[in-house]
Amino acid sequence: MGRRSFHTQIDGNGMSGKDDDQPATRVVTGGRRKEWTQGVVNTPVWRASTILYDNVAHLRETGKRRDTHHTLYYGRRGTPTQWALADALTELEPGAEGTFLYCSGVAAVTAALLSVLTPGDELLLVDSAYDPTTNFAAGFLKTFGIATRHYDPLVGGGIAGLIGEKTRAILLESPGSLTFEVQDIPAIVAAAKAREIVTILDNTWATPLLFPAIEKGIDLTILACTKYVVGHSDAMLGSVTAGPGFFAKLRNISFQLGQVASPDDCWLGARGLRTMAVRLKQHEASALKIAQWLSARPEVATVLHPALPSCPGHEYFVRDFKGSSGLFSFALRDGDEASRAAFIDALRLFGIGFSWGGFESLAIPADPKRALGVPHHGGALVRLHIGLEDADDLIADLDQGFVAFRAAQG
Ligand SMILES: *Cc1c(COP(=O)(O)O)cnc(C)c1O
Repeated sequence: MGRRSFHTQIDGNGMSGKDDDQPATRVVTGGRRKEWTQGVVNTPVWRASTILYDNVAHLRETGKRRDTHHTLYYGRRGTPTQWALADALTELEPGAEGTFLYCSGVAAVTAALLSVLTPGDELLLVDSAYDPTTNFAAGFLKTFGIATRHYDPLVGGGIAGLIGEKTRAILLESPGSLTFEVQDIPAIVAAAKAREIVTILDNTWATPLLFPAIEKGIDLTILACTKYVVGHSDAMLGSVTAGPGFFAKLRNISFQLGQVASPDDCWLGARGLRTMAVRLKQHEASALKIAQWLSARPEVATVLHPALPSCPGHEYFVRDFKGSSGLFSFALRDGDEASRAAFIDALRLFGIGFSWGGFESLAIPADPKRALGVPHHGGALVRLHIGLEDADDLIADLDQGFVAFRAAQG
């Protein structure tokens, strides 16, 4: 027939071609085994707790299988709905061993850390990490005897000087939450490999489409799938994709912790994933247009968008990333709490709310809390998520927001 099978992993029919497929193709084909889809296009929702066995021998034999990840065993170990999404995410990371899914991005962060850290270890944590990640280090990890040392997001190869006897892992997030510093990931990975330190990257902003982390030498890569994978602001989901040698540990600790992502939410995640490549292109184009417009405004002190030279670490973005997504911050020149609130409150098309990555635009005041000292950007920060509305409509909305901002400045 000459048609490529999308369920190559299981058929072993030699028609794969998968390795040559572009990422935009893989988001469409990934994880769609025919035994799971049963002939429909999207893997349906397989909801289950109990799995029924033919007889006792079947039950015993299934329990002995090491890879229960792809075998119906008990609902907590997942069903084809979870496996389809997990495998699709693995296929987006060339060289990856496997993916485990979680009920939220934060649950993915904590499981990744717990899969490699034990009491007495030290974690090197980027100072621009997502707040709940920092809180987990300062709370749970500290209580369990795991120390944390914060490092400057622009440390680059200088990280070697921070690695001590007890250092076990480095958690990177690039660009950083709220302030968008881009890290020199290859330099940090090289320093970590030289000392056999595990690297963990929160890759939520870029996704594997803009930064294939495993290929770049990262050991464990995290996505808050709640953001661009789900893409519609209607489900919570997280994932960790493991590089060579790290999946068995990750799965083991996740099973011990009782982690399971709901099949319904994984179905929404898989549905969202299929359009992620085209959505990201539009988020990128609109966000760039708006970021450039903002950088020419007199009311704006600076724009923190990785694709703009005004963003710290911009040179690493240009060198390492395949593109940008829809989230960035800017500083209001001479803005204070009240004038910033007046600006955000005046916006008509931007919702006010946490999270991002959906089809809708959002604006929030951003106040980074940092262990190493809060970076100064010359004004009050606003974080924008640029959704899929018409970019000129969004610009007109921001324009009238500035009228309210100036009025509030008095
Ligand atoms: C949102 C977010 C998370 C957490 O994801 P949830 O699904 O909201 O728990 C983790 N890391 C980053 C960078 C995020 O933006």
